[in-house]
Amino acid sequence: MALMSVVIPSYNEEANVARAAEVIGKTLREAGIEYELVFVSDGSKDTTFAIVKELSEQDVHVQGIQFSRNFGKEAAVFAGLEVAKGDCVAVIDCDLQHPPATLVEMYKLWEEGYEVVEGIKSSRGKESLIHKMFVGIFYGIMSKLMKLDMNATSDFKLMDRKVVDALLALTEKNTFFRALSFWVGFRSTSVSFEVQERVAGESKWSFMGLVKYAISNTTSFTTVPLQFITGIGFLSIIFSVIVGIQTLVKYFMGTAVEGFTTVIILLLIIGGCIMVSLGIIGHYLARIYEEVKGRPRYIISERTRGI
Ligand code: UDP
Ligand code: MG
Repeated sequence: MALMSVVIPSYNEEANVARAAEVIGKTLREAGIEYELVFVSDGSKDTTFAIVKELSEQDVHVQGIQFSRNFGKEAAVFAGLEVAKGDCVAVIDCDLQHPPATLVEMYKLWEEGYEVVEGIKSSRGKESLIHKMFVGIFYGIMSKLMKLDMNATSDFKLMDRKVVDALLALTEKNTFFRALSFWVGFRSTSVSFEVQERVAGESKWSFMGLVKYAISNTTSFTTVPLQFITGIGFLSIIFSVIVGIQTLVKYFMGTAVEGFTTVIILLLIIGGCIMVSLGIIGHYLARIYEEVKGRPRYIISERTRGI
């Protein structure tokens, strides 16, 4: 019989792990699916991992690893994929915002032969206005670049062993799991789900955290911002030629362009463009620097028995 692994990234989720294990386990048992739960405690500073260890002693289906510090959800997801033994692997949040019942639906689609089953949000649930706006801009850009509606996508998905192995074979350290599962291709389908309220605890994302996440995902996934710089460069050249000719003509006609104001404005605009461009290049340079160092994506400090 096929084994399904469920990877559950958990960061300071002591209020949720036991419930998540119980609810997800119960759902899968009732559906007659053979499963294992892989909790990845992302350097939690609370009792998350202690609870996972305790659960794993009572229930053979539960396993877990603990990171030596917080490495971020992406790292947690990939660590989970690495240790998961299932023929298919699902990733689900620990706070039960992703309904466990959908896992059964995903599993059935996998049995039908689909290799990637994406969880698509039918609504985004409760979020603050600023959050919504920011996420809207970010996903707007990403969707354009990837020609996919990224706004509704989530990290909630199920993948066949083949897909997991393909993802694990990628050597890059800066990953964007949500988009990579599209990038690898394979036979995919989606199920929509209603984002639930977080059962306990708080969202682990700060606004700055999200900004960093967006920048790192954009730069790790696409080089379009760099081409954007080239675009600005070309526009400036066209503009300079026109203004240059005009200036020369006026000069030879003896009516020089009046204009300290013009000079200052031009200087500011060009200065701004150069700074932003350098910044964009800097981000890519930083990415390259990080990748070149070749550090591991995460460090595991503890494991439960069985992994
Ligand atoms: N998470 C993680 N590492 C982090 C931040 C979050 O493993 O650095 C986990 C968290 O425990 C949860 C999931 O990722 O299971 C989603 O996080 P959260 O609910 O805070 O995000 P939101 O649902 O608000 O987008
Ligand atoms: Mg959540």
